[in-house]
Amino acid sequence: QLPLALILSMLIGYITWLATANRMSFSWEINLGLASREFEVFCQPLLNARNLQCTGVELLLRWNNPRQGWISPEVFIPLAEQQNLIAPLTRFVLDETVRHLDMFPQSRDFHIGINVAASHFHNGEIIDDLKRHWFPSQAIQQLVLELTERDALPDVDYRVVRDLHGLGIALAIDDFGTGQSSLTYLETLNPDVLKIDKSFTAAIGTDAVNSTVTDIIISLAQRLGISLVAEGVETPQQAEYLRNHGVNVLQGYLYARPMPLKAFPLWLEGRDPP
Ligand code: C2E
Ligand code: CA
Ligand code: CA
Ligand code: CA
Repeated sequence: QLPLALILSMLIGYITWLATANRMSFSWEINLGLASREFEVFCQPLLNARNLQCTGVELLLRWNNPRQGWISPEVFIPLAEQQNLIAPLTRFVLDETVRHLDMFPQSRDFHIGINVAASHFHNGEIIDDLKRHWFPSQAIQQLVLELTERDALPDVDYRVVRDLHGLGIALAIDDFGTGQSSLTYLETLNPDVLKIDKSFTAAIGTDAVNSTVTDIIISLAQRLGISLVAEGVETPQQAEYLRNHGVNVLQGYLYARPMPLKAFPLWLEGRDPP
């Protein structure tokens, strides 16, 4: 007869082992995926709300994992953040951006949005990574770093923010209003842009509480002189509401879905011929 304590401790040991094995296999998968080029950067256009000219793109990662098929970033990004694997993924996006800069108009007014986890700001790591990628000085000024607040309240170093702005890089707070730290971020990040999360866009025209929150985010940004981008625009009604309330830039399936970088020049050409 095994004593209960022994059985329990064996059980706990087994569960711990399972958890570790699981974690190891995820990091192994990510590294393997990076090495065998399973990741691809897509881009989704952003449009000026008034004249619907394309003002930039957001870069979005896609993972075509041959062992499991397409894996959504909604799944692998949070896991990667938890397990300190987000920086290599961001570096991959930076690599691809530098390599494909000729897919985008070379104008300071054309913005290239890159999603960056707040943890990547720690110790200015993001600045070192940006410098290592040798962006042409023109291109570096086109970058907009979209900062997510998924990881609860990281202490964003004011000096990193200052240095990024010094390089001419703009900062956006992503998914504004969905995390716990939004209002603190307004002070520490001194953002150039607030991105209205698609859950708020979806609430427009409904009587959900979020519809009120959308209005409050808009007026907050306007009072602070921060530019507004709404994501997840799917209907003409949402677009009209956002435009009428002074939201500057719209992004969503109504205009374009995320596409491979190589498809972008053609999309742009088909839209507003030169
Ligand atoms: P996000 O930064 O909020 O990006 C917007 C998401 O909304 C994207 O999902 C985009 O495809 C989707 N979307 C755009 N328009 C519409 C629309 O009209 N309707 C609906 N329902 N969805 C729309 P995606 O590409 O699946 O990415 C999910 C999240 O994963 C992103 O949310 C971002 O937080 C994260 N992510 C993606 N790529 C990267 C990356 O390179 N680095 C980091 N750190 N995070 C990334
Ligand atoms: Ca984003
Ligand atoms: Ca986000
Ligand atoms: Ca979002």
